[in-house]
Amino acid sequence: MENWIRAKLGLCRGPEWGTTARMIVDAHVHLYPAEVDRDPAAWAAAHGEAHWAMLCTRRRRDGRPVQSLPTLAGLLRAMDDAGIGRAVLLGWYWEKPETCAWQNRFHATCVRAHPDRLAACATLHPAVGPEAVLTELRRAREEGLSGVGELSPHSQGYRCDDPAFEAALQLAGELQFPVNLHVTDPASRRYPGWVETPADDFVQLAHRFPATRFILAHWGGMLPVNDARFATLDNVWYDTAASPLVYAADVWSRVLPALGTGRVLFGSDFPLNLYPRVAVEAEMARFLAEARAGGAGDAVLGANAAKLFRL
Ligand SMILES: [Zn+2]
Repeated sequence: MENWIRAKLGLCRGPEWGTTARMIVDAHVHLYPAEVDRDPAAWAAAHGEAHWAMLCTRRRRDGRPVQSLPTLAGLLRAMDDAGIGRAVLLGWYWEKPETCAWQNRFHATCVRAHPDRLAACATLHPAVGPEAVLTELRRAREEGLSGVGELSPHSQGYRCDDPAFEAALQLAGELQFPVNLHVTDPASRRYPGWVETPADDFVQLAHRFPATRFILAHWGGMLPVNDARFATLDNVWYDTAASPLVYAADVWSRVLPALGTGRVLFGSDFPLNLYPRVAVEAEMARFLAEARAGGAGDAVLGANAAKLFRL
């Protein structure tokens, strides 16, 4: 990020992440091996990941990609620029179990290389059956991963009562692995790749797996604001990923008090460009400034994530 932007946003480079009390955590970050960035569309075609391609390889009218795919070094630089101490890497909700396993191995190398800056979740696909899903999750844990997600039964093409998915949720609870689920807002515009994610599914999952902690991404698609049942769910949290692409900046002051600051995790959806009208690529700092201006304090900006992911 340019220095003038940093100055404007009131940011400075510094070891702010040295202390846990004020450590800022971005709880929703995606990262891919460098090989994907060489030709993302060809990579996706070769691996049968059409849904990812639809969302992540789009191009603007001028030919530039809508979303860049930075390397690990690029992510760490973006975190440094924004004064973000830690990031939680979330896997993509791939359509193929082998792509899930491949990304989990990559996440393990990232966490091993930067245990002070990164935590990571395992992504899964139940198509391989309960036994193989549990083996993959246990392996991910041995390799240093500490959560599950981002999963999207509705995009990955399985039911919420799929036996392998249920087995994974059960084990996640036993391992104290939070489970991040992709949620869409029924009232949002229908962007490419939008899927319906019914509130009933999340309410039932939270009830059926009371020992499992769920993080419903993207403000839970505003389901918790519009559906009173969510207020009774003690094992559900929400992240703020991609917020500026769907909601105006006043979402923070409107929704934070309703959900409770103990229930919300700051997460950007990096490397998604959250401000395509004013920025060329993803800038965590701009979003962090929006969150702070909207009233997000230590709990939302880091303490909640630190507790859930045991950072
Ligand atoms: Zn998502």
